[in-house]
Amino acid sequence: MTRKLTIALAGNPNSGKTTIFNRLTGTRQHVGNYPGVTVEKKQGRCRHGGVDLEVVDLPGTYSLTAYSVEELVAREFIVDQKPDVLVDIIDAANLERNLYLAVQFMELGARLVLAFNMSDVAKARGIEFDLPQLSRLLGAPIVPTVGSKGQGTGELLDEVLRVAARTEPVERRQVHYGPEIEEEIARLQDLLEAEGGAGHKFDARWLAIKLLEDDRQVREIIGDEGILRRAAESIRHLAAIFGDRPEIVIAGRRYGFISGACQETVRLTVETRHTLSDKIDAVLINQVIGLPIFLVLMYLVFHLTFTLGEYPMGWLEGLFGWLGGAIARLWPPGSDSIVKSLLVDGIIGGVGGVISFLPNILLLFMAIAFLEDSGYMARSAFLMDRLMHRIGLHGRSFIPMLIGFGCSIPAILATRTLEGRRDRLTTMLVLPLMSCGARLTIYALIIPAFFAERWRAPMLWLIYLIGIALAVACAKLLRITVLRGEAPPFVMELPLYRLPTLRGLLIHMWDRSWMYLRKAGTVILLISVVLWALTSFPRKTAFDRDYDGEAAGARAAWLAPHDGPADPGASPDARKARYEKRLEALAHARRAEELAYTVAGRIGHGLEPALRPLGFDWRIGTALIGALAAKEVFVAQMGIVFAAGSHQAGSEALRTRLQASYTPLQAFCVMLFCLISAPCVATAVVTRKESGAWKWAALQFGGLTALAYAITLGVYQVGRLVS
Ligand code: GDP
Ligand code: MG
Repeated sequence: MTRKLTIALAGNPNSGKTTIFNRLTGTRQHVGNYPGVTVEKKQGRCRHGGVDLEVVDLPGTYSLTAYSVEELVAREFIVDQKPDVLVDIIDAANLERNLYLAVQFMELGARLVLAFNMSDVAKARGIEFDLPQLSRLLGAPIVPTVGSKGQGTGELLDEVLRVAARTEPVERRQVHYGPEIEEEIARLQDLLEAEGGAGHKFDARWLAIKLLEDDRQVREIIGDEGILRRAAESIRHLAAIFGDRPEIVIAGRRYGFISGACQETVRLTVETRHTLSDKIDAVLINQVIGLPIFLVLMYLVFHLTFTLGEYPMGWLEGLFGWLGGAIARLWPPGSDSIVKSLLVDGIIGGVGGVISFLPNILLLFMAIAFLEDSGYMARSAFLMDRLMHRIGLHGRSFIPMLIGFGCSIPAILATRTLEGRRDRLTTMLVLPLMSCGARLTIYALIIPAFFAERWRAPMLWLIYLIGIALAVACAKLLRITVLRGEAPPFVMELPLYRLPTLRGLLIHMWDRSWMYLRKAGTVILLISVVLWALTSFPRKTAFDRDYDGEAAGARAAWLAPHDGPADPGASPDARKARYEKRLEALAHARRAEELAYTVAGRIGHGLEPALRPLGFDWRIGTALIGALAAKEVFVAQMGIVFAAGSHQAGSEALRTRLQASYTPLQAFCVMLFCLISAPCVATAVVTRKESGAWKWAALQFGGLTALAYAITLGVYQVGRLVS
């Protein structure tokens, strides 16, 4: 019994298609036309390994858009006739340009064999390929050929038969288009899959990408008004972010994919690369100085976050302080109203405290958006690739990790672009160690309170680096224990550098900051009220000490004539200061007594034995519980605990009180614990959803908390010994 296979030859014009076609089919060919168009259709036959092959020479194209008849004809043939194997004839001497078409075939999910034709020319130009690796990255076998001499055509057909005989579905490699575009692709893909109409013939992801490219023909095929409207919206959204049609950006990303694949697998023995991006990359992803440059850039970002953020932060603090004061004045002085306490301590203290950090968040997100849009972030992933390989991950895992600096939740969603399940799980589990924007509020509160100006940026940098180092260590640990296994090959996209548009930066910044603000207005507001209630009730009425009496006594002592030997020569000013200090100490003691009596105080006290070895008291304990809901709540909670009864909002006042209560070592331990310990509840829920099992979320939650405890314990105990 003889089988008959159809193979289609595709490729750029002048890559040698017709030459190879002639070599394969000899005289057994005929020329016709594609139905309805004047494009020539060449068909022929040959026999190889006992199999009859029908060979079609497709028109030469550079792309698979719907712009030219040739492209449409080629695309329709591939999609409608479904040749058993698609052979892409590539001019290996112009690899990057030719791979653009190959990548689109790859995305189409075709059974693909790549012929690296003109390999004689490539060799003469001093180009060397790591074919096995490139073939893994592209997910298709590669056969070098010299069409004009008939070299390699036999091997090419061997490979065609092998691919045709494969029964398992094509193992697809995908271009990763960056978070914004991927998000829109996913949205459209969901719609298309739900609608299901055209789905049987076309791959949903491919259709989604084509819709974003505004492909006329694909729009016709789909027809569904709702989907088309959604696609038009996505296009507008992306165009606003990138300041360019998504089509152009998508093409750029494909070239980025190719550039990344070639960076790893193509070597020029003769140095001829000289584009601007290449020149920049020669420095930025240099083996030796690339990583130091990355670290310095990160440092600058943090420096900027603090120095520039200081002014608007001061204004916001002033605003909330004024607002708290103005509301407090609605009641007579000394009033004990619960409503007043709820408004001033609970809501303004809690939510206001969190919103004061908005400038820091905005600046950090702005800087990250700049690095992302300019193309540098992709480089940093490339840089990390070497390091990541050593810990059993791919450099691409670094991108979700970078997103994790903003918020763990979108970062966990971004792990969807990782193909290997073990890769994905490992990345997801260690992601919370990438210090998120919410944690930044904790550092922004604590660092200026305990560290001198010039140590602030280094401190923040250190915290972030500790997070990264721990993430790396934990990933390695997971990869050699529960998640052992090979990592599948990936391409690191290297998009061309571009100057980000201001509009794009602002949109990025706003998208993310809005999420933060919304959280402050909803979840954090709610939690603030609950925490306020926990720290206010039950109210203590009978105190252990007679505070009012003691205050009156101190006042009497200050005003009384004082010539006695107990206080020789004390100036009136010094005595006044002493009186005020005494008053404050009394207020402090009273507040502490009140708090200890409340529900929060009792929980905190209950936790204290476990937290004391870390240098934490019960107040920090209660704040840590609040932080489980959302990390910002830690700040809100400290604000409520420390401001209770003082009617004074603003983080400057809070910082003064923190300074009086804790040592810098304790402060550092608090940051360390908040950095490492269990992610917020929302992160745990998303981890459960994306990993498909509670056990992973539980491992993440429990594992990180245990790790935080162990490390903080070590640091505090050692720190106490040496200081
Ligand atoms: P098509 O446009 O893809 O059909 O390309 P053709 O088959 O017409 O080939 C274009 C030119 O490249 C012709 O002059 C071929 O002789 C030449 N050619 C094809 N394959 C090779 C090869 O492997 N090496 C070299 N040096 N020339 C080739
Ligand atoms: Mg031709």
